[in-house]
Amino acid sequence: MSGIADGTGNRTEAPSLANPDPRSSSSRSSRRRIGLFGGTFDPIHVAHLALADWARAELALDEVRLIPTGRSWQKEAAGASAADRLRMAELATADRPWLLVDDRETRRPGSTYTVDTLAELRAEFGSEPALVWLLGSDQLHNLPTWDRYEQLLSFAHLAVTQRERVSLHGFPPAVEALLARHGAQTLPDTPSGSIVFFRMPALPVSGTVLRRRLAAGERPGELVPGPVLDYIDQAGLYRRGPGQR
Ligand code: ATP
Repeated sequence: MSGIADGTGNRTEAPSLANPDPRSSSSRSSRRRIGLFGGTFDPIHVAHLALADWARAELALDEVRLIPTGRSWQKEAAGASAADRLRMAELATADRPWLLVDDRETRRPGSTYTVDTLAELRAEFGSEPALVWLLGSDQLHNLPTWDRYEQLLSFAHLAVTQRERVSLHGFPPAVEALLARHGAQTLPDTPSGSIVFFRMPALPVSGTVLRRRLAAGERPGELVPGPVLDYIDQAGLYRRGPGQR
């Protein structure tokens, strides 16, 4: 499916998109807005960076924190260590001063749960700023499997963008119920509690495909920033095949 959200919260088809313009957002608010972008980032790739760029522009975010998972209970067989994934994230984001790498989940022992991360961040930032958890539509389909997912919206907003070939329709009933209650056209001027959609170009890339290509000896320079590719080469990452350490 080629459709993407149209930035007004509607789930519709949309045309191809040029680069985002951070000044173009119509929904700027005086309240500080902090985007939070979690994932395995194994490795970080161009779609992750595009998602952060578009979220910043479309949602008028002041900063975005990229939060690599520690031991993800949903993804047992990550290819690279947390230290390597963090390093690659730092290399990839070096030219974006508003995009910070936050290592808190990699420092937490045991399984990583987003709701715990959000509770911690809310305690640190206090009640005033808007926290906006960013995710692709695949993760919204998956939301009912997240630990204590009903509590997420008491700490943050959720902002969802379309992932290529993952529909913005037909979510599980629990997600449709959340959307009916919390869905909004644009991000309201509140610290938390709404689900919005934002647009970004469809980019056919995933960590799984990347790991497979790297294991096959390819050098997919169009999908990974140069310094990250160099690091992968130097550290000899992903050589033994997807899902193997
Ligand atoms: P894997 O294939 O290992 O699961 P991934 O790239 O799909 O890797 P993560 O690194 O965990 O997964 O992704 C972090 C976040 O980025 C998730 O919210 C995911 O939906 C989003 N994301 C990843 N790739 C894309 C993409 N091509 N387009 C839009 N969102 C994406």
